[in-house]
Amino acid sequence: MKRERMNAGVAEETVELVLAFERDGGISYGNRSALEKLGYAQEELLSGSMCEVFRQEFQREDGSYADFDRTLLKDGQETVMYRKNNACFPVMLRLFEDEDGGGYLMAEDIAYRKNTDVRIRQLKEEEEANQKARNEFTANVTHELRTPVNGIKGHVTALSENVQDAEVKKTLDIILYCCDNMSAIINNILDFSKMEAGKFTLEDKEFDFYNMMDQIVATHTVAINKKELQFRVHIDETIPQRLIGDELRVGQILNNLLSNAVKFTTVGQVSVDVSRTMQTGDEVELFFMVRDSGIGISIEEQDKLFQSFKQVDASITRRFGGTGLGLSITKQLVEMMNGTIHVESEKGKGSCFSFSIRLRTGDNMDESRDMSETYRNWNHLTGSMEEVGQEERLTFGTKENREELKKRLEKLVLSIELSSWEKAETLAQTIKTLTKDRESELKRPILQMEMALRKENYEKSIAAYENVKATITALLEDAVEVR
Ligand code: ADP
Repeated sequence: MKRERMNAGVAEETVELVLAFERDGGISYGNRSALEKLGYAQEELLSGSMCEVFRQEFQREDGSYADFDRTLLKDGQETVMYRKNNACFPVMLRLFEDEDGGGYLMAEDIAYRKNTDVRIRQLKEEEEANQKARNEFTANVTHELRTPVNGIKGHVTALSENVQDAEVKKTLDIILYCCDNMSAIINNILDFSKMEAGKFTLEDKEFDFYNMMDQIVATHTVAINKKELQFRVHIDETIPQRLIGDELRVGQILNNLLSNAVKFTTVGQVSVDVSRTMQTGDEVELFFMVRDSGIGISIEEQDKLFQSFKQVDASITRRFGGTGLGLSITKQLVEMMNGTIHVESEKGKGSCFSFSIRLRTGDNMDESRDMSETYRNWNHLTGSMEEVGQEERLTFGTKENREELKKRLEKLVLSIELSSWEKAETLAQTIKTLTKDRESELKRPILQMEMALRKENYEKSIAAYENVKATITALLEDAVEVR
């Protein structure tokens, strides 16, 4: 009894419309909400029919009503209910059927929800239209800016060729430098707006990987020399010469990282390592590392690095310039090449940006690879530009060198066992210096070890360590025999 009273009370007070109906569609009950929303007095509603309230289902074209059929109303259905004044509103039905063909229903007025959905859709459409207009505007403006910048550059270059006065030449060089900076910024904005608009595509053309690396290295060598930094470049020679992909964009990724490395380093070194990490069928995965000993980036700042328009510190913009778009574009380019990009850095100590990309291999039938002059020089350059430390003076195979090597190798394996990856990397560096005289034999195993350490892969690091150790031991045995 109590429960029935409670049910009746709840039905009466609920915000949903509650209607009870008979087999023939006659309405036998309407709660307060039903009376209010449908606009009937109680007697009017109770003498009315479900067909009038649900006209969409039951009204014929000539205005008359069909016979009530309960199956035309369904549980969970969205439909409309009509008021006395012929206005209608959307509802969501819950239907409860009695065995005698009648039943009752609860109807939730979903006008508010519907309106909100419509509004959200409208806002989304407006935002998309705005975004499109913004992108088009940016694309147009940047395109328009390019022309005058290229014009200035062309004229200044021509002028510079005929100028003798050193001071004037210096000023013209500065103008050219500013033009290059401006072009780079314009290009970044253009790329970014194309990416935002989903209109950015990659080329798929065959290119010479070593030629590309030559050009990139040459581009940065000038700035690196000017800053008196050391520049090391290691390239895994098993990388096929002819690759298929977007040469310009691969270069852009590397150029962005290298420009930053040079920009944010005042003493020490900048290095680039490229290795082949996987090859299946005609696909090859390349792994690049760009390291510097510059100002570094704190952990909190690293999180923001790859977001658009984010420069780590506002004062950096003033000191170093830039738009904060470079790394966001770089990340998107890497991802478009089915790769990933990571940063590891410590404030004040330097940064290491690494990324992988996948490319297809081209026509590499000609085994006698014509490695460019510059590339052959790099390996030499690399060796001759090592830091001049104590290890440098220890000739390979001498007693002191032998002892030093033994100590470092023991420490290295211990660091790997303890997962002290950073320490292990430093030890690998000293081992490299201590074995510099035998670089040709040790270059590949040491690079493999560096990669494994860098990836913090225990199994690969131990295997690579064993390989380095075995090679060094064999070389040392030879060294003894020679003596
Ligand atoms: P921009 O296009 O302005 O050069 P980036 O997206 O390339 O911007 O870099 C964003 C910010 O990340 C830089 O302003 C700098 O604060 C930081 N950063 C990037 N690379 C390095 C690095 N090698 N060393 C230290 N800070 C870096």
